[in-house]
Amino acid sequence: MISFIGAGPGDPDLITVKGQKRLAEADVVIYAGSLVNPAVLHVCRPEAEIHNSASMTLEAVLDVMERAVGEGKKVARVHTGDPSIYGAIREQMDALDDMGIPYEVIPGVSSFLAAAASLRKEFTLPDVSQTVIITRLAGRTPVPEKESLAGLAQHKASLCIFLSTHLLDQVTADLIAGGYPEDTPAAVVYKASWPDEKAVQGTLRDIAGKVAEAGISRTAMIMVGQFLEGPYQRSLLYHPEFAHGYREAERGSGE
Ligand code: SAH
Repeated sequence: MISFIGAGPGDPDLITVKGQKRLAEADVVIYAGSLVNPAVLHVCRPEAEIHNSASMTLEAVLDVMERAVGEGKKVARVHTGDPSIYGAIREQMDALDDMGIPYEVIPGVSSFLAAAASLRKEFTLPDVSQTVIITRLAGRTPVPEKESLAGLAQHKASLCIFLSTHLLDQVTADLIAGGYPEDTPAAVVYKASWPDEKAVQGTLRDIAGKVAEAGISRTAMIMVGQFLEGPYQRSLLYHPEFAHGYREAERGSGE
């Protein structure tokens, strides 16, 4: 059996209970060493065989999995954050399907959630935005033209931009070209939930300079939108005048 496990954003206490149980039982562990905090692996058995996939190809990862499963061993494949986001998990699952090898996926706390927690922000404020866009600038992996940042900018949704801090000048230029006012709040959180976490807050106009000054160029989340700063409506869900299936209104009908 193979367990794909989301390791969470860094803090070893932010892996799920289920993910940690699988990791503690694993005979073979393959972890994405470029971002997974090695401290997450402290629960592994001393005799577990540990591979860092940073120096491996997809084929090499699949070879390790196939051999281990053939020997009746339990494999933990550990991805940073949640494996469904920029995790390159699909190509592994498809190959395992072809080989007839069973697997499960255990989700994790993605770094965009850890970044919001670190800043103590809510992405979905009434009257501000009810939509979160997760995206990136093109790198070695291209981004479809229909998803250009300038195009996404028109929605003014809460934005989380992965894998792009080294291109922050371009990010802010694209968003401004797409119609965001220059004073739109922007924040960058470096290594959210790690001991050396750093956060920089500003606007689209000044965030790139501030982030360069802080020496941050990778492993960081860019967040943009009015959810970071400014007014919002309180939620109706907890409003005394509004009733719903689990609570009656205190005053009036809520209409
Ligand atoms: N699957 C991961 C993302 C992998 S892509 C997840 O769900 O979080 C790698 C990118 O994720 C980095 O370039 C950075 O933008 C972001 N990232 C990963 N860990 C981070 C952290 N602790 N703090 C801020 N950003 C992080």
